[in-house]
Amino acid sequence: LNRRLAEFGTTIFAEMSALAVSTGSVNLGQGFPDTDGPEEIREAAVRALRDGRGNQYPPGPGVPELRDAVADHQRERYGLEFDPGTEVLVTAGATEAIAASLLALVEPGDEVIALEPYYDSYAACIAMAGGTRVPVTLRPHDGRFVLDLDELRAAVTDRTRLLLLNTPHNPTGTVLTREELAAIAELAVERDLLVVTDEVYEHLVFDDAGHLPLATFPGMRDRTVTISSSGKTFSYTGWKVGWVTGAPELVTAVRSAKQYLTFVSAGPFQYAIAEALRLPETYFDGLRADLTAKRDLLADGLERAGFTVFRPRGTYFITTDIRPLGEQDGIAFCRALPERCGVVAIPHAVFYDHREQGAPFVRFAFCKRTEVLQDAVKRLGTL
Ligand code: PMP
Ligand code: GLN
Repeated sequence: LNRRLAEFGTTIFAEMSALAVSTGSVNLGQGFPDTDGPEEIREAAVRALRDGRGNQYPPGPGVPELRDAVADHQRERYGLEFDPGTEVLVTAGATEAIAASLLALVEPGDEVIALEPYYDSYAACIAMAGGTRVPVTLRPHDGRFVLDLDELRAAVTDRTRLLLLNTPHNPTGTVLTREELAAIAELAVERDLLVVTDEVYEHLVFDDAGHLPLATFPGMRDRTVTISSSGKTFSYTGWKVGWVTGAPELVTAVRSAKQYLTFVSAGPFQYAIAEALRLPETYFDGLRADLTAKRDLLADGLERAGFTVFRPRGTYFITTDIRPLGEQDGIAFCRALPERCGVVAIPHAVFYDHREQGAPFVRFAFCKRTEVLQDAVKRLGTL
């Protein structure tokens, strides 16, 4: 492994999922649903395969049906107009969109500001692009992980090239507020920064939280690369269909990188996700209602087991503080948890440069069947 990647090793998700299998534990670590998404969308993929749609290289930017569906989704939900011909790019999941955006937009030596704790691929992709990551730490305050806008402002230097945002935020479950996003937008305009915003959890928002794309804020449409993906919204994480929207120059740049990463993304699933994006509102409402109930089931159970719980307003992750259990070190705690009670979780510390900041926090995924969550809660109750 070369020097750029040496620090990254195996992802925590692979390590913890392997531990779940080898110990027979309930896996609340890696975030993937244990129930597939809508049957009719699976049927749409089967039809595409059978009818030979997408079985040979699809168009580089993605099949027109999906690009149209993405453009319609952004217009109908958020009032954002994107030309499906020049301003939408289909990628192999959000993961490729993140990699291609950073490889396309970052010059070696550029600074990239990312919210810490950050999704693990951000750090690795900034490194692959030759950039320097500058973390701005979200800190717990009043039951929520909060962005300190002064800290963000202070992190911008003459070498800052872009901000890499994520809302709803993995792993904390924070949904950035209108005021926070407005301040970020003002800063980006004032300092002439590009923003790459990872909005893969856009449909997984609860209570009174609504998702606000950063691109809708003044001055942002043309300096923002917005990333999303079908994996979370439609519970088909294995299909790896993601997309990017943004101004033509930015999307063209991302496409230049993408063409040498995967060239094109797998064809038949693109047709199926084009249909998924047009599912009736009842689908999206149902997804949120189901996940809200699951969030509360697991959050209540974790509270009863003695954790401090940060009840998330978005994503399918709950962050906890393990200090009330007399524990300090989330990594050691997560390595021991399968033996202690047969549950796997993810330690926050691996998502921090300032590891000590993340040490007492542990993440649990709740995108699991109700009986699985009930079983996990029972197990955690024995701690
Ligand atoms: N960004 C975030 C914040 C995520 O949690 C995930 C899910 N693993 C991804 C990107 C990757 O999405 P995809 O599976 O579409 O590549
Ligand atoms: N996004 C999911 C998580 O955060 C899965 C990530 C992965 O396996 N790369 O757990």
